[in-house]
Amino acid sequence: MQAVAERPESFVSTTNACKLCAPLGASLAFRGIAGAVPFLHGSQGCATYMRRYIISHFREPMDIASSSLGEKQAIHGGGPNLKKGLLNVMRKYAPSLIGVATTCLTETIGDDVPMILTEFRREFGDLPLPEIVRVSTPSYSGTHMEGFHAAVRATVEQVCLEKAAPRRTVNIMPGLVSAADLRNLREACSAFGLPACILPDYSETLDGPSLPDYQTIPQGGARLEDIRAMGGALASLELGRTLGPLSTAGVSLLSRFATPLVSLGLPLGLRESDAFFAALAEISGAPVPARYEAERGRLIDAYVDGHKYVSGKRAVIYGEEDLVVGLTAFLAEIGIQPVLVASGGRGRGLEQAVREVCEDLCRETPLVREGADFFDIAGEAEGLAPDLMVGNSKGFRSARSWGIPLVRVGFPIHDRFGGPRIPHLLYQGAQHLFDTVVNALMEQKQLSTDIGYGYI
Ligand code: SF4
Repeated sequence: MQAVAERPESFVSTTNACKLCAPLGASLAFRGIAGAVPFLHGSQGCATYMRRYIISHFREPMDIASSSLGEKQAIHGGGPNLKKGLLNVMRKYAPSLIGVATTCLTETIGDDVPMILTEFRREFGDLPLPEIVRVSTPSYSGTHMEGFHAAVRATVEQVCLEKAAPRRTVNIMPGLVSAADLRNLREACSAFGLPACILPDYSETLDGPSLPDYQTIPQGGARLEDIRAMGGALASLELGRTLGPLSTAGVSLLSRFATPLVSLGLPLGLRESDAFFAALAEISGAPVPARYEAERGRLIDAYVDGHKYVSGKRAVIYGEEDLVVGLTAFLAEIGIQPVLVASGGRGRGLEQAVREVCEDLCRETPLVREGADFFDIAGEAEGLAPDLMVGNSKGFRSARSWGIPLVRVGFPIHDRFGGPRIPHLLYQGAQHLFDTVVNALMEQKQLSTDIGYGYI
């Protein structure tokens, strides 16, 4: 493994960040609402960076509007530009919702966005105004996941204002998962007879069919009428074991409308998926459908068949907190030892969550690093002798320099095709990940010897 220089104590910069900017996460969340346009209150450069990043993963058009601030507005305030930008977006897109996220610039100059939006509604109240949801997302104090969750909560708090009549539905706040995962979650709920309001749902808006004409706002997304009625659902299911310290959308629905809240880990792997299906069975009062029992059985059979290839291997896992906890749970249950679990996020109880999912399964307690960048990850992994890395595309350089495979999961995946269609969740996702991990290790063995194995 390549030696990595010690970082001096006074070193405070980030080298190859293991997190992305907060309004990027908010833009992704807003893209999962029907008829919505994400709008950045800041400079054009931020919007361009985020669009480029998101497009190279999803390979779909991604419009992000911007109030396009320059030096003048940085000094005098961006209110007039924000109002002008909102009017432009209304004219060009006729959106049903505009999601306004602040950037580092507007947070630093201290623009009072709630006040500017109140003025806007007063000044242009004669126009058919869309819903305007605002969220504060200074990137220097949060990651893309913080921005994502903040946008979901802001949407629930600013759109769902009254207790709706009770309805036999379930709210799912899944976090940042793939488009394939969103589709599979919806299908699972409907197999229990539960229509789901999934917030956000970019399964179509960021992974839609090819159409003859360009649509300024793609079809799909959580419908506003369903978001307004979330308070009347049977329950909210919020996925992620490190959400605890956050004041989430589910907590808001619980405290305002007494909508029961079930908090679970991302259903990644057998045990976490079992918990998800048990929760749906409890909420719906229906048994687990035969189809999922069969998928579970096939998964266990695969675990037995493939165990000899994975047992005792050592993995480095990195990415968003909830995802790395889910991946750790999955890898531990298939017999892989997670040796380093790292995230760019901090302060959300990552260490405790990793300890919980590894209990009774791992021989060694993995090293857990919060607020890490890829410089830290490389430094920590030195001496841990990992056999594989599991995470997004950003770990490729490390994996290549160490001569070990990288199993690509999550977001962003820039150097492979089909990132939005990777299933991670439920038995089907675990099956896909298990096959991928086993095949990556088999290929590594095949390529690293000169025997030329035909059978492994
Ligand atoms: S300046 Fe801040 S908001 Fe803009 S792209 Fe960079 S981190 Fe994101």
